[in-house]
Amino acid sequence: MIKPSLPDNEEQRLLALQRYQILDTAKERSFEDLVTIATALCGTHMGAVTLIDRDRQWFKARQALDATETSRDISFCGHAILQPDQVMVVEDAQQDPRFFDNPVVVNDPHIRFYAGAPLLSFDGLPLGTLCVFDANPGHLRPDQAQGLAALSRQVSLVMELRRYAYEIQQHMRDRAWYEQRLSEYNALLEQQNADLAEQSRTDPLTGLPNRRAMSLALEAAVTDADGQPRQTAVALLDIDHFKNVNDLYGHATGDHVLAELSRLLRAHFAGQGLAARYGGEEFVVLMPDTPLGTAELQCDFLRMAVADLPLGIPLTISIGVAAHRHGDGVDQTLARADAALYRAKHEGRNRVVRAD
Ligand code: GH3
Ligand code: MG
Ligand code: MG
Repeated sequence: MIKPSLPDNEEQRLLALQRYQILDTAKERSFEDLVTIATALCGTHMGAVTLIDRDRQWFKARQALDATETSRDISFCGHAILQPDQVMVVEDAQQDPRFFDNPVVVNDPHIRFYAGAPLLSFDGLPLGTLCVFDANPGHLRPDQAQGLAALSRQVSLVMELRRYAYEIQQHMRDRAWYEQRLSEYNALLEQQNADLAEQSRTDPLTGLPNRRAMSLALEAAVTDADGQPRQTAVALLDIDHFKNVNDLYGHATGDHVLAELSRLLRAHFAGQGLAARYGGEEFVVLMPDTPLGTAELQCDFLRMAVADLPLGIPLTISIGVAAHRHGDGVDQTLARADAALYRAKHEGRNRVVRAD
């Protein structure tokens, strides 16, 4: 017996075979069908699509054959791929010095006749064969040899299509993966945008809404959902002589006072108004659906509560309060509240003055 030698391009050939990812895969109808046609054409009992791996031949399709693979050393097809452009025919293996004592000739399935057409990759590397064989000696007419070669090209084509299908699947999986990453990234960006929007509306020192947020809230508060005017009161308040607090106790204490006053404002107007930092040591309070008299009373309670704050520092505030007038812009209302605040300062501070 003569073992098949290795082709010169063996390593390249094995790489090409790997690209098809076909070894040890399940039976597929198209390969089985081509084997059936090949055996019918050549009048043999047995046939196979075989792929030559490094040390074995593995059958992708087989007819009347039990084995799923054999060692490469005893394979006929190992010889057939050495001449990739020819159909190899062995009319009687018992008469052939390469095969007469081969185990598959001596034992089951007692091969005598063999014809194999190499399967080529698209770049011409031999991967295996489409082969037919029989327990009786035989002969292949030229038209049968041509037919077998044509069928082997069909097998190669099916392998190629199978490989494309696999690559497309792989692309789809990759794409799904990238799309998933992209949507996660978008969600993150949206979250960051939401955080930034929140930050842009919040005063960092006191945690109260800032002036910008208050302007938006004011616009929304002065009309109801049907566009009807609502009775809204607006108060502007300013810490009295706050500059002295900074000058006497330091800026950090000044900050602490602002934070404590903010806490009181939030608690005082919880559920019935919105307090915001208007800037510096000035705050604005929005009181929706509140008549001016009630708003003035609320502000006076606040004024007294501030004077009672246990800060260890005497602290008072002055407040100007105005009712929003239908037809006015919110800026006009704020200006009227500011004018009232100015009067409160001039009349001696630590008091509430209502706008006319
Ligand atoms: P008035 O009774 O007339 O309102 O007197 P005032 O001293 O409160 O008013 P003025 O406008 O002269 O001074 C306000 C001070 O508030 C000046 C400024 O340094 C201080 N201030 C503004 N923002 C902050 C802040 O965020 N932290 C601290 N610690 N001080 C601030
Ligand atoms: Mg001020
Ligand atoms: Mg002040």
